[in-house]
Amino acid sequence: MSLSQIARSIKASPTLALNEKAAILREKGDPVIHLGGGEPKSRAPMDALLGAINSLNTGEVRYTPADGIPELKKSIIRYTEEFYHRKVNPENVIASGGAKQAIMVALQAILNPQEEVIYPAPYWVSYPDMAKLCGAIGVAALPEDGTFYPRLKDIEQRVGSYTRAVIINSPNNPSGAMYSEEFISDIVDFCERKEIYLIMDDIYHRLVFEGRKPISAYDYTKKSVENSKLIIINGVSKQYAMTGFRIGWAVGNKKLIEAMTNIQGHQTSGPSVLLQKAAAGALNGIQSGVESLRVTLENNRNVLIELLRSFSGVKVTVPDGTFYCFADFSAYEKDSQKLSAFLIDKVMVLTVPGKEFGMDGYLRISYCGTIKDITEGVERMKWALDLNSPNELYIGDRKLVRDWS
Ligand code: PMP
Repeated sequence: MSLSQIARSIKASPTLALNEKAAILREKGDPVIHLGGGEPKSRAPMDALLGAINSLNTGEVRYTPADGIPELKKSIIRYTEEFYHRKVNPENVIASGGAKQAIMVALQAILNPQEEVIYPAPYWVSYPDMAKLCGAIGVAALPEDGTFYPRLKDIEQRVGSYTRAVIINSPNNPSGAMYSEEFISDIVDFCERKEIYLIMDDIYHRLVFEGRKPISAYDYTKKSVENSKLIIINGVSKQYAMTGFRIGWAVGNKKLIEAMTNIQGHQTSGPSVLLQKAAAGALNGIQSGVESLRVTLENNRNVLIELLRSFSGVKVTVPDGTFYCFADFSAYEKDSQKLSAFLIDKVMVLTVPGKEFGMDGYLRISYCGTIKDITEGVERMKWALDLNSPNELYIGDRKLVRDWS
């Protein structure tokens, strides 16, 4: 069978593959603990459910405009005013099938084949493949100082005549690092001087800890929205625990949004009206769920960090936000794919290999699950890796015996 060059260059999303693996093992009856997931476990807000239910009850579920229904765009405009301190118009907004599609369509609107998009490492697994889908090239910028906090010069030195855009994801998946206001201000200014697009992937911006507040890149430009090459990405998936609703959005200048709308119009059309109504319900409804999720995640993070600090061979950087911790396990095993497979095989704990995010030797551990899963999962990992632990481990009435050293 002959497949296109692009198709052959794309690999399965490692995080989605892991979800499937967990489901298969669970079906077999294995007591799997999934610390590799990327979705909060709380219920979607009631206002979101009602939005979808009321729409479904009309029995008229039709096509929507390719850039989203006016009601959802209105709530995104309000959201942009509240969190980004900018008044934008409906022509500056497109609603897509998740932040994922919003980013993808933005890249398709700005990248020519062979052109480059730069992002700091560690980076979200999809950026490199999204660039490939455009026939373009993703360039990872690993902070030179070995931290998860890039400096302008890390990005600057990779920018050349082919560079069309920079993607910044803060707080970051997988590291949980929230970049400083100074860095955001520098990168906004730098991209403006170079006349390249700056895509802010803000999908986790309200899930931040210790009193941190979301940062708006618009606060650091003097340009009007129409003259700016800033593209703000956000969505309901993480903050409202609505991953399955598949609604995200982009805010940017009119010309760009029009191009994105044309692309999306041929690709998928507008997202389902039911899900757009649900997203509008979440954005317009009671907001207490976001704060309670944030508090739960902060508490989960504290529990996880405490547990990881008890390993002799793990180096942790405390996440500032999100629900991921990217911990250095290289003292046990430098090949993160091998280590992740070992942990699934020996103790049925799923984590994502750091290699998928551009940094080998690390594992991404999610803390969006229950405290019980976090505690038990990390204890199993410790048993498997720490050769001073007892030779046997009980999981329910299953006895595991160490057959490795
Ligand atoms: N950006 C980042 C950094 C993410 O982690 C994710 C989801 N894992 C997305 C975008 C996509 O989110 P959505 O569910 O809205 O498509």
